[in-house]
Amino acid sequence: MLMLKEIAYNFYWSWNKEAFEVFKNINPDYWRWTMHNPVLLLNKIDPSYLKYAIENKHLGNSILNIYDEFKYYSDRKTYFEEKYFKPAKPSIAYFSAEYGITECMRIYSGGLGVLSGDHLKSSSDLGVPLVGIGLAYQYGYFTQLINRDGTQTENYELNDFESLPITLLRDDNYLPVKIELKFPGRTVLAQAWQAKVGRVKLFLLDTAIPENTVDDRGITDILYGGNNEKRIMQEIVLGIGGVRLIEKLGYDIKAFHLNEGHSAFLCFERIKNYMKLMNVSYEDAKAKCYFSNIFTTHTPVPAGIDIFQKDLFVKYLKDYSEREIGKDVNDLFLEGDLNPGDADNNSFNMAYLAINNSNFVNGVSRLHGDVSRKMWHLPEARTQITSITNGIHTPSYISKHTNKLFNAYFTDKWEFDDSIWERIGEIPDEDIWTLRLLNKIDLVSFVRKKIRNKFIFLGENDRLKDVDSILDPNALTIGFARRFATYKRGNLILRDPERLKKILNNRDKPVQIIYSGKAHPKDEQGKALISEILSFTKDENLKNKIIFLDNYNIFVARHLVQGCDLWLNNPRRPQEASGTSGMKVIANGGLNLSILDGWWAEGFSPENGWKIETIVDESTPNEQRDAFEAESLYSVLESEIVPMFFNRNSNGMPVEWIKKVKTSMINLAGHFSSDRMVKEYVEKAYIKAIEK
Ligand SMILES: *Cc1c(COP(=O)(O)O)cnc(C)c1O
Repeated sequence: MLMLKEIAYNFYWSWNKEAFEVFKNINPDYWRWTMHNPVLLLNKIDPSYLKYAIENKHLGNSILNIYDEFKYYSDRKTYFEEKYFKPAKPSIAYFSAEYGITECMRIYSGGLGVLSGDHLKSSSDLGVPLVGIGLAYQYGYFTQLINRDGTQTENYELNDFESLPITLLRDDNYLPVKIELKFPGRTVLAQAWQAKVGRVKLFLLDTAIPENTVDDRGITDILYGGNNEKRIMQEIVLGIGGVRLIEKLGYDIKAFHLNEGHSAFLCFERIKNYMKLMNVSYEDAKAKCYFSNIFTTHTPVPAGIDIFQKDLFVKYLKDYSEREIGKDVNDLFLEGDLNPGDADNNSFNMAYLAINNSNFVNGVSRLHGDVSRKMWHLPEARTQITSITNGIHTPSYISKHTNKLFNAYFTDKWEFDDSIWERIGEIPDEDIWTLRLLNKIDLVSFVRKKIRNKFIFLGENDRLKDVDSILDPNALTIGFARRFATYKRGNLILRDPERLKKILNNRDKPVQIIYSGKAHPKDEQGKALISEILSFTKDENLKNKIIFLDNYNIFVARHLVQGCDLWLNNPRRPQEASGTSGMKVIANGGLNLSILDGWWAEGFSPENGWKIETIVDESTPNEQRDAFEAESLYSVLESEIVPMFFNRNSNGMPVEWIKKVKTSMINLAGHFSSDRMVKEYVEKAYIKAIEK
């Protein structure tokens, strides 16, 4: 029991397949009902039932096994120790507004959060002495329900921190640790929740405590909701509050990593601390801190950046500026002022604040690095913007079948490093093909179950009879799942409905598409895209061949990237800074079809996937680009992809396709992993800051 509890309170369980299965096996219904939250499961389940379940289902050995593995994982020698030193305490702090770790922790909205979660997981795997800082949102991001008329309903479900795998941070006297922030006319306090992600700790600040006014308790209530004033308050808690928490914890942090600009106020707090500590000027302190701030930008479009109006900035930072830093607030404003000559400029740019204060600035793919350099054109005298391409935490996205296959071929504590990917060729074609079928059958039954549950929930019993004819495990299955932002063009493949119908309805070579994704609550165009797709799902000729799955989240994503044969990505180049979902299909044997944007611009080769031709000239009208690129998309599907998938040998296997799957794994899986990504951050940025 104690072992099980210890496992439950470390998110290590979320990427250990055996641990996930044990919690599920204790009681599958409870497991689903808790949204895969082992702490809630253990809290709610009757102890005698738990004992019975463990004995009766023979889970005891598995639990011992997992516990041993967990201990081994926590103590073993790692990359960081071997290459650098054995760390005693964290020396790198990673700041992010959202973290996507696993489905029950709803404090993420999409790619940025999932990337932060993967960054922590790989830091843990590699033994990088890093600590995460974020916010504990009571409502997180919304849950999406698609109505019968194709519109999106947004539900906000409460996160009950007490029943999540996190604990309240307490001091030696068992009192909650709190940090203090001066807001206009009042003091706001925040407590912190601690999550363990393998070896790494993540601290989440939370203002919902009795000492605060009712309004202030709501500062951290919701992710990317509310107005700009809520936003600036959240970012003060994250940036300034985060640095204060680190001090309280007694950490000697040498490198501060700002994942996107939301946390950039930390630059001020660091300067302030250094001024006090060394009794130096603002400029001297800034010059010193500059070398240990690392800023990762994630957007190639100016509209994606956090901007605060001057009056709001002054309202919240005047007192701080004058009293704590000893500077006029107008001087501080200049740090985020892109037009310092223009007395009328009203905008404070958080990314600019971060860039001004970070020696190391990077985009998240090579192409995005180029775009960022053009967008910001920094003075030649300073370090230029570079790039570190994103990656994914492979163990978090592989299916149990994939895991089992690798276990069978690579015995004895194999890990996801390059030595594994080189050996993919040893796996016979038959086993790769069986893996594909198993992964896809799981996806099909997942989709049917999810849709059946939805119909039951809505009381639409008349629709239940169709559920078992949804999707065909033998069809070429295309996945398209991401946020419904217009530049991602979720409807590109729908441009020519007749041509699409021909592709999908070929009786000998059937093809099907699964969609999923949320539109931001205020994005009417994004919502219109969802409605458009939904109208296609109702077409009699496409029924059960185009499916929309509600509520895209990590759980849905995992099933899709495991089961789909082909992952489709067709943004308007170069607006997709990196994109990571396509990386998640690789180890599961899926292939990519994408515009050469973000990671695919460097990942693609004709041996490991397909490209959609693009009009690179960005001044070309959208309509013209869309027409050209849709044509390319159809044509590569018709002339290459579908024929290759259905070109079977006498054993019914698509030999050419399987070869491509293997090449994709060998060439891409290691490189587009967050292990490679975190190593790059260590070697190019962290270690320099630490050793300074
Ligand atoms: C991986 C992932 C993303 C990011 O993928 P993109 O390709 O950037 O869209 C977003 N949301 C979820 C739930 C994910 O798992």
